Amino acid sequence: MDKKRMRDILLAAGLLLFAGILYLLLRPGGEGAWAVVTADGQEMARYPLSEDRQVTIGEADYNILEIKDGAAAVIEANCGDHTCVRTGAVSREGEAIVCLPHRLIVRIEGGEGPLFDASVG
Ligand SMILES: [Zn+2]
Repeated sequence: MDKKRMRDILLAAGLLLFAGILYLLLRPGGEGAWAVVTADGQEMARYPLSEDRQVTIGEADYNILEIKDGAAAVIEANCGDHTCVRTGAVSREGEAIVCLPHRLIVRIEGGEGPLFDASVG
């Protein structure tokens, strides 16, 4: 094989490798994270953290869930203790907002966080 051709192949391989590394480095860390709403042990809904929104969960017993700037928070609720509201915003895998009186859990799944967490569930 002549040297010029060899060099071209190496150059192409190098470029491919470089593109692959760039892809891994630039991949947005928070992408794919979800706020998963569970009530009474049943998954009710899941919302991507990448989209700002406000949803009211429940009727008589309600929690208002706000997703903003990649984080989820219960901003208002008519439960007795307001622990869920005081929890504030969560955005990392495994973090959760719990409303005991309403038996409601908002849990973060996916996105950034420990890769070795196998205990969810
Ligand atoms: Zn609450």
